[in-house]
Amino acid sequence: AKIIFIAIKLNGVQRGLISEIISQFQCKGFKLVVIKIVVPSKDFPKKHYHDLKERPFFNGLCDFLSSGPIVAMVWEGEGVIKYGRKLIRATDPKKSKPGTIRGYLAIVLIILFPCKNIIHGSDRPETAKDEINLWFKPRELV
Ligand code: ATP
Ligand code: MG
Repeated sequence: AKIIFIAIKLNGVQRGLISEIISQFQCKGFKLVVIKIVVPSKDFPKKHYHDLKERPFFNGLCDFLSSGPIVAMVWEGEGVIKYGRKLIRATDPKKSKPGTIRGYLAIVLIILFPCKNIIHGSDRPETAKDEINLWFKPRELV
């Protein structure tokens, strides 16, 4: 439970929030293991969000994620999933506190476009492992 996959979604990149988000994780004492910018292929987001394939917003969400650059990162540290998720906070803006990334950087946007919530973070150690293996090749992780 010491590593998490974090992705800054297209609108986070477009708004210049890369350094802000990195700073927030660094301030908590977490360590950046690897970072890269990728433009996912059309089908790639479907693998990432395979759990959501029955949801009505699945295609729109996947189209959004393949429409431009994404910053893919692995962060390491004791409790990084628990505290990283706290930093990110809820998809539902009513539950996203002002001091969190989705809370203060995206609140109005999330109401209108829930897929544009700036950032993704793995929710469990197992999903973190799967997502890291999906987004990174072994030789990128040395
Ligand atoms: P995440 O897994 O990204 O941290 P989450 O666990 O809070 O977010 P999920 O229900 O797992 O939310 O949804 C995954 C992603 O699907 C969200 O990050 C959001 O971008 C998108 N999403 C959720 N609900 C909607 C919706 N109603 N319309 C469009 N996109 C949505
Ligand atoms: Mg989720």
